Amino acid sequence: MFKLNKASHFIGSAAIAMALTACTSSPTGRSQLLMFSSQDMAQLGAQSFDQMKQEEKISRDRKINAYVQCVADSITRHVGPLPGFTEWEVVVFDSDQVNAFALPGGKIGVYTGLLDVAQTPDQLASVIGHEIGHVIAEHSNERLSRSQLAGAGMQIASIAIGGSDYSQYQDIAMASLGLGVQFGVLMPYGRAQESESDIIGVQLMNQAGYDPRESINLWYNMAQQSKGQPPEFMSTHPSHDTRIADLQSEITRLPVSSSATPNCRRP
Ligand SMILES: [Zn+2]
Repeated sequence: MFKLNKASHFIGSAAIAMALTACTSSPTGRSQLLMFSSQDMAQLGAQSFDQMKQEEKISRDRKINAYVQCVADSITRHVGPLPGFTEWEVVVFDSDQVNAFALPGGKIGVYTGLLDVAQTPDQLASVIGHEIGHVIAEHSNERLSRSQLAGAGMQIASIAIGGSDYSQYQDIAMASLGLGVQFGVLMPYGRAQESESDIIGVQLMNQAGYDPRESINLWYNMAQQSKGQPPEFMSTHPSHDTRIADLQSEITRLPVSSSATPNCRRP
């Protein structure tokens, strides 16, 4: 069973953070309610990632690891400093799951099954850029804050004083980090968050020298292969058509691509 270490510490500081609730603006200018500190979210992400590394099979294929690391590096190079961590960590999980995620604290997970669908470096960059978009825009913080407002805050507060069921908190924390699909607790990001991550993702692709139009090809590949539980970036909202139209209009607004020339070869 998936467990969070030091959760009580996190919850304790989260409870304090509630008093410091801030209304801020997301990277695309959407107003956001964030009730947790970025540092606490980074810590929660790092703890969850450590647990995942213990529970999931990690790929030891050197060529695959080098390839995924290369694409991730080429994208993260264009992300400014974020609170709570200094370096991005990338882990390839050996699994047929078509999935990837990025967590606050700078943690990126890519499943080998994704490489069947994200078939080129540009398409892999598209998924990684999208996932990093969720981190940059603090979507986990936003979602956990919303859970607080929806009443889960009562449970979180009571765990903080040691009187409630720990597993209740665990589900909320996992779901807020976007790890729901992996752990069977489905709590998709909202439509506004998905659109925002799409926009940040293609901007990052463009800065890194990838072809942002490949995000649309990736989307078509995904739609063809979709079976069973959809991966995070294949969320059911916005709809396919809306998403592709939005991506297309964002791509036409992008400045001429940077001089960066990523050179990541798929093994
Ligand atoms: Zn997403």
